[in-house]
Amino acid sequence: MDTKKKDIRALTKEQLREFFVANGEKPFRGNQVYEWLWQKSAHSFEVMTNLSMKTREMLETNFVINHIKVDVMQKSSDGTIKNAVRLHDDLVVESVLIPTKTRTTACVSSQVGCSLDCRFCATSRLKRMRNLNPDEIYDQVVAIDNESRLYFGRPLSNIVFMGMGEPLMNYKNVLKAIDKITAPEGLGMSPKRVIVSTSGVPKIIKKMADEEVKFKLAVSLHSAIDEIRTSIMPFNASFTLADLRASLQYWYAKTKSRITYEYVVWKGINDSPKDAAALVEFCGFAPSKVNLIEYNPIDEGEFQQASDKAIDMYVRMLEKNGIVVTVRRSRGKDIDAACGQLANKS
Ligand code: SAH
Repeated sequence: MDTKKKDIRALTKEQLREFFVANGEKPFRGNQVYEWLWQKSAHSFEVMTNLSMKTREMLETNFVINHIKVDVMQKSSDGTIKNAVRLHDDLVVESVLIPTKTRTTACVSSQVGCSLDCRFCATSRLKRMRNLNPDEIYDQVVAIDNESRLYFGRPLSNIVFMGMGEPLMNYKNVLKAIDKITAPEGLGMSPKRVIVSTSGVPKIIKKMADEEVKFKLAVSLHSAIDEIRTSIMPFNASFTLADLRASLQYWYAKTKSRITYEYVVWKGINDSPKDAAALVEFCGFAPSKVNLIEYNPIDEGEFQQASDKAIDMYVRMLEKNGIVVTVRRSRGKDIDAACGQLANKS
């Protein structure tokens, strides 16, 4: 990358218009370029054919487009696609396309590596190298939208921030990316089709509530008992369940938006009725939905999926208490594309 040149997608539309005025051109050129960058996802200045050669050369001298590149695309036997995405500084993240009969969901990354230390997650073994920029998040979505059109004949319908990284530890950029994803000048998707999944950063959850964001929130809970949660998600020692719960109560009071909890039941860790009762108690304050997700083994035996009996026990307890519950099967396991398996192995 040429370090003297600026990343053109860090500029707002207004800044682009000002750039053209400063260089003796009409401001509307800024709108044209903005459209190329975001709506048409241009990878180069060359393709901007409604600009003169001279203008394109001027852009070339001043700016770069740090577009991502899909390096490797792997297809699972169940239709899931995993992209290994190369960034302009040669770091790699992964994103996943998950097809069902009626939808295509993009699972995107928000950081290179992860700042958290969940012991059951493969990504936690990669050091957090850096946050992704808004355009790098946006590009992952566009790449999957294109693949969805190409392989499934339909556009992308949903987006989940459940790839690598903790989105709320890169909140500003995630928010900017979602703005572009939902703007008519970007992909024009409804924010209701976007889920941000977090291990729970209470301060940021409150901020999101204050900003009245329109996307959905999912919380990776896995245990509603501090001691157990800290043993599997060590950062819980600093962001305790009481703080998390208070922030979620605040979120619900402001947004009236149902909270989804992601929860894996592991043998000998959180598979007793006491664990399920704590979960029921934790979610009791607002309409909630619990997704019991299948564990995707990442190591030799330390964590094991609980028995069907234990899962049934959870389902019964939750349903009895009016909590919506779904049991989720994994997708894309054969290509290491399932939850918690993203670790740049390819
Ligand atoms: N940091 C965010 C998003 C990334 S993880 C978060 O924690 O929500 C996406 C989901 O996969 C989370 O619910 C996470 O707890 C879950 N997960 C991580 N490792 C897993 C594994 N090995 N098997 C199943 N789910 C896993």
